[in-house]
Amino acid sequence: MIIDGKKTAANLREDLKKKIADLKSTFKIVPGLTVILIGEDPASKIYVKNKEKFSKEVGMNSEVIKYPENIEEKVLLSKIKELNKNKDVSGILVQLPLPGHISKKKVIETILPTKDVDGFHPVNVGNLSSGYQSNIPCTPLGCFLLIKEVEKNLTGKHALIIGRSNLNGKPMAQLLLRENCTVTIAHSKTKNLKEECKRADIIVAAVGKPKLVKGDWVKKNATVIDVGINKTKTGIVGDVDFQEVSKVAKAITPVPGGVGPMTIACLLNNTFECFKRSNS
Ligand code: NAP
Repeated sequence: MIIDGKKTAANLREDLKKKIADLKSTFKIVPGLTVILIGEDPASKIYVKNKEKFSKEVGMNSEVIKYPENIEEKVLLSKIKELNKNKDVSGILVQLPLPGHISKKKVIETILPTKDVDGFHPVNVGNLSSGYQSNIPCTPLGCFLLIKEVEKNLTGKHALIIGRSNLNGKPMAQLLLRENCTVTIAHSKTKNLKEECKRADIIVAAVGKPKLVKGDWVKKNATVIDVGINKTKTGIVGDVDFQEVSKVAKAITPVPGGVGPMTIACLLNNTFECFKRSNS
C-alpha cells in the first residue's frame, strides 16, 4: 500500500474548511495564522508561500510579516510580543532557520505557548511528554495521522524512529509511546541500524540521508514512514529506498507526496485548535 499523504492532507483541509465556514456563519470570526519570514532563503520563501496559500484556501486569516536578514533580535521579539496580545492572531510561526545573530531559543520561548502552532515551545514539549494537551509539532503529527490510517491499533507494536531531532524524532517518539508502542530511537551513534530496523513493525525515518533504509532492512508487513527530503542529481528522494522497500513493506509513504503535504495541513489544524482553545 502506498500511503497517499496528498489525499489525506486534502481531506484534512476540506474538513477544516467546513468547520471554519461554520464558525464564520455562526460567530462571524475565523482563526488567523501569522507567519514571520526573515531573509531571502529560497526554500523558506516557498514554504511560507504555501502556508499562506493553504491557510487562505481553508478560509483562515493569513498574514506574512517579512523582515530583512539583518533585523535586530529585539525588534523581532517585540513584534512577537505584540502578536501574542493580538486577539485576531490564533497562531504564530517564525519560519526557521533564523540568521545566526538571532537566538532560536529566545524566539521560540517568546511565542505564547497557546499560539505556538509549531509546538516547539518548552511548555508544549513538556506537555506532550507528560501526556497533557499540547500543540504537537506539525511533521510528526502528520506522520502519526498517516500511521493511524494503516495501523488502527498501535498497542504493543515495535516502532523504530531514526533521527532524534526536536523537530521530528523526539515528538514522534512521544506520540507513538502515547499509543502504547514500544519505541526505539536511533541516531548517528546507533550500532547496527539494520538489525534495529528488522525488528520494527513501524519505521519512521527522519534523517536527511538519501535512501538510507534498504529493502533487506525491513520486516515483511512493516509500515514505513519516510520524512526525509533530500535533493539529489535525479530529483528529490527520501531517507528510504522506495523501490526496494515498497516490495517488502505492508505500507510506505512516497517522497514527494507522503509526509510533506501533511505538514502544512497539520499546521492549519494546529492553528484551528489554538483558536478553539482560546475562544472556548
Ligand atoms: P536533523 O535535525 O539533521 O536530525 C537528523 C537526525 O538523524 C539526527 O538525530 C542524527 O543523529 C540522525 N542521523 C544522522 N545520520 C544518521 C545515520 N547514518 N543513522 C542514523 N541516524 C542518523 O534533521 P531533521 O530536521 O529531523 O530532518 C530530517 C529529514 O526530514 C531531513 O531530510 C529534512 O529535510 C526532512 N524534513 C521533512 C519535513 C517534511 O515536511 N516532510 C519536515 C521537516 C524535515 P544525531 O542526533 O546523532 O546527530
